[in-house]
Amino acid sequence: MQTLLDTQTRLQDLHCAACDTPYSAFQLQRVSACCGQPLVAHYDLHEPLTRATGIERAENSMWRYRSLLPLLDDANRVSLGEGWTPILPLQRLASRYGLRDLRLKDEGLNPTGSFKARGLSMAISKAKELGVTGCIIPTAGNAGVAMAAYCARAGMRAVVAMPSHTPKAFKEECYWYGAEVHLVDGLINDCAARVRELNADNSLLDVSTLKEPYRLEGKKTMGYELAEQLNWTLPDVLLYPAGGGTGLIGIWKALREMQALGWLPADAKLPRMVAVQSANCCPLVETRAGHQTNCHSYVGQPTIANGLAVPRPLGEPLMLQVLDESNGLAVAITDEQMLEGMRELARLEGMFVAPEGAAVWMAARQLLETGWLRPEEQILLLNTGSGQKYLDNVEGHY
Ligand SMILES: *Cc1c(COP(=O)(O)O)cnc(C)c1O
Ligand SMILES: [Zn+2]
Repeated sequence: MQTLLDTQTRLQDLHCAACDTPYSAFQLQRVSACCGQPLVAHYDLHEPLTRATGIERAENSMWRYRSLLPLLDDANRVSLGEGWTPILPLQRLASRYGLRDLRLKDEGLNPTGSFKARGLSMAISKAKELGVTGCIIPTAGNAGVAMAAYCARAGMRAVVAMPSHTPKAFKEECYWYGAEVHLVDGLINDCAARVRELNADNSLLDVSTLKEPYRLEGKKTMGYELAEQLNWTLPDVLLYPAGGGTGLIGIWKALREMQALGWLPADAKLPRMVAVQSANCCPLVETRAGHQTNCHSYVGQPTIANGLAVPRPLGEPLMLQVLDESNGLAVAITDEQMLEGMRELARLEGMFVAPEGAAVWMAARQLLETGWLRPEEQILLLNTGSGQKYLDNVEGHY
């Protein structure tokens, strides 16, 4: 029995990611007024909160960390059981490649089939708490599906703009949830332009990646979970497919928060973080290589990993900071390699992962070849989605 459970949120305020100016967390916010940059939630981590009192162990979802999440009143929670996904050993792949410890956290098992469920559950819950009645999103696919589902559950209007080349399963599921879907010729940045037109009167909350503060808070729960599931030891290297960047930034935020809370062993080394991108759209790789000063005019091409087709992510500076602080790096993987990774994970491990997840495995292989990753290291792959929605992209390539 947990009798001392601490259920009150520790949320304090929001800070501009660029200049640290504080903003109220108790009214509706979008990006910072000072710099037009993401607002990041800050919590009171000094008042003691232990793992025993801060984790609701009977709750088998991301909401087990509710005191470190921004919702004030549980009555506003909009949940479909997101999070608390398994970490699975990849023994057959590991032995084929001579690796000591290879594991995968499978986010494809979330409601609506991707880790986007975490962020949208959180964002729609907060939107409900703040009196919002409708939301709008530009999406490469999974985020739109998740927003449509959580809006349906919250009784909110949902408007989704996605590229017309997105696999049919993503569009179809949005329609089933009753969303209004706009198909746009182009990538997610073109969808963002359409969203600005559609929402010119600001009547809907724009829940674009990092343009409201709370999707990041949902996604950071992956970091809390992986530490708890690995019994508070951390992998040497964590590979994550990065598009808009909330997953990568969120996991790192969680690791930092757990350090501040004293939840990690004092001598715990944080993992080296690898941002995995598509060769067709790899703004981070290009910026880090010094081929451009930033992604502001980067032009990307479509890829079978739809979630990675984000040419100009608002969160680029935050992602680069994670890579710098963790001694990590950014890697680009081709669509052909992703198909090969999907085949290997399916045939050797029984997992039908999204191309984004397959890219992460292929990045590990590439880094083993270059020697940056060593076979004796503990390697954690994040598969962000289920392969089932991507059939239009991958059908027949088994
Ligand atoms: C959105 C998405 C990504 C990229 O995640 P970000 O948090 O935007 O970087 C990766 N994989 C899948 C399956 C996605 O849907
Ligand atoms: Zn600022």
